[in-house]
Amino acid sequence: MYINQPLSPFSPPTFGAQSMMGLGMQMLLLSQMMKMMMTVFALVAGESGQAAFSGARPAFGSGGGFHAGGSPLGNFLGSSGAGGAGGAASSAPVGDAKSVGGGFVSPVDNYRISSRFGPRKAPTAGASTYHKGIDLAAPLNTPVRAAKAGRVTVSKDQATGYGKWIEIQHADGTKTRYGHLNSRDVQVGSQVQAGQVIGKMGSTGTSTGSHLHFEVLDKSGRQINPEQVMKL
Ligand SMILES: [Zn+2]
Repeated sequence: MYINQPLSPFSPPTFGAQSMMGLGMQMLLLSQMMKMMMTVFALVAGESGQAAFSGARPAFGSGGGFHAGGSPLGNFLGSSGAGGAGGAASSAPVGDAKSVGGGFVSPVDNYRISSRFGPRKAPTAGASTYHKGIDLAAPLNTPVRAAKAGRVTVSKDQATGYGKWIEIQHADGTKTRYGHLNSRDVQVGSQVQAGQVIGKMGSTGTSTGSHLHFEVLDKSGRQINPEQVMKL
């Protein structure tokens, strides 16, 4: 499980009242911890890749993401703040897309976008309502490529969440993640080139159909909208 939010330091709330001391304070901190853990779980769990695969790559809208000056990031921040369920769940961390350089290639050759980055309805019970990656749907065992050169830092097989997944650290400090793989072709420590096949698409973990859950993380480890730094 990945925890992108720092769990410490906790700055104790300055309520002033002594009633929060002692056991009361401990209970408060405990409930905060629980809330954060549940949030992290919700962010990792829940993916949708179902529906028929068209086989056709969607046309890239001109003037869309890449060099648009006014990024859609503000929209995500705004809408995640409004109507949030309160507490930690409403403040999904979003990274700084402007700090992430270019040079990305698509991790899949032909795909259909089945879920975009940002707030969404949970595809299954208990699934994430803030999608921290983009879902690229294609048939089982479609090759999945490294989006940028780098070193493999994670290659795991989990029963839930990302399922079989890979993380690559890039030279500039950014990372990319590839979830729900059917198989993995690289090991931790491997150097990979941009476009190199690192695994095969699947539906492992919390997933309802064959797709790649793809994430781009900024230098501080927070996910950004992949469509802001590459054409998808
Ligand atoms: Zn996803």
